[in-house]
Amino acid sequence: MSNNNDIRHRFEQAFMPNYGVPPVALARGEGTRVWDVDGRQYLDFVGGIAVSSLGHAHPALVEAVSRQVATIAHTSNLFLHEPEVLLAERLLGLLGAPGRVFLANSGTEANEAAYKLALKYGRREGRGYFVAAENGFHGRTIGALSLTGKQSIRDQFGPFPVDVRFVPYGDASALKEAVSGDCIAVFLEPTQGEAGVVPPPDGYLVAAREICDATGALLVADEIQSAIGRTGHWFAHQADGFLPDILTLAKGLGGGLPIGACIGFGEAGTLFDKGDHGSTFGGNPVACAAALAVLDHLDLDHVKAAGARLRSGLEAIDHPLLKGVRGRGLWLATVLSEPRSAEVQRAAAAAGFLVNALQPDAVRLAPPLVVTDGEIDALVAAFPAILTEAAQ
Ligand SMILES: *Cc1c(COP(=O)(O)O)cnc(C)c1O
Repeated sequence: MSNNNDIRHRFEQAFMPNYGVPPVALARGEGTRVWDVDGRQYLDFVGGIAVSSLGHAHPALVEAVSRQVATIAHTSNLFLHEPEVLLAERLLGLLGAPGRVFLANSGTEANEAAYKLALKYGRREGRGYFVAAENGFHGRTIGALSLTGKQSIRDQFGPFPVDVRFVPYGDASALKEAVSGDCIAVFLEPTQGEAGVVPPPDGYLVAAREICDATGALLVADEIQSAIGRTGHWFAHQADGFLPDILTLAKGLGGGLPIGACIGFGEAGTLFDKGDHGSTFGGNPVACAAALAVLDHLDLDHVKAAGARLRSGLEAIDHPLLKGVRGRGLWLATVLSEPRSAEVQRAAAAAGFLVNALQPDAVRLAPPLVVTDGEIDALVAAFPAILTEAAQ
């Protein structure tokens, strides 16, 4: 039995059956390259789901985390530490707007904080419901799940304690219709990630900002997948030309270490009173040191150029299974003419590339933000044969 099969078998015996168990067990990585437990090498165009922003084993991340864990690994929120302050200041500086930060350990927790902030606002103002987008994804804990617009993962865990109304993503008039003076907050991803890397039509997010301004609803931008350089901008909303009231971050922020952030701008930054929220691990010194290393070493110009190279390379492929390419920066989906993404993922792995069958007809590419031109060219060169293999 191969090491991959052995680990997979043992995983299935020891773990709850909530994941479709993947066939590959990764042992180590370096930059965009990873090796599985049988010694096979792959180019990683998944990036741990848009997380491994500096790639694998980046020397700066290794150094920052090693130094911090050898100095002080944990303080709890009963004591302050400098890395958390440096990180919060750094994020606010990149955002260029006055705000306040709460640090969590994951995306769903960042959204829980946003949800509780919004609930406080709603109670104070006597407002009663939330609006979120169909097919949107905000996380798996009950609060974030209640805002997640995917019935298959949501409905069996309802009813939820709060009224959430769903609107089609990208439709500004449907949003306008749904948001009244009784609406607490609107939760939106600037590009829908899990739905298939789906950017909205131009002007949609600015319209959402205007609708919220006109009604007094808070606008929450879930940038858990879209921020920290993924689109070639620090934050996707900066390119979209709007500022949310609340912003949530996670995935790429820690470069692989678990960290999330909820940032409130203006009045939304001071809605929590002492005792309203907290986390034992949130803002952990090691995770903060990792995030600071990520922010120090990301090169947005590289992301823009590499993203354009990947996109134009894929767009130049003429293949009956490839219908198009969508997304932003180094965050793309190849859209298939038939629902064969699982076959594409399998054929890609056999050819030495990790890609993600995100939707039946969409394959996500979210490589480390340090992916090289040569690595991009290798994927583009291999992709037609991968498609042909998958079409059979
Ligand atoms: C991944 C994701 C989440 C959930 O993050 P977790 O760290 O898995 O809890 C929430 N929102 C968006 C947009 C995401 O992509």
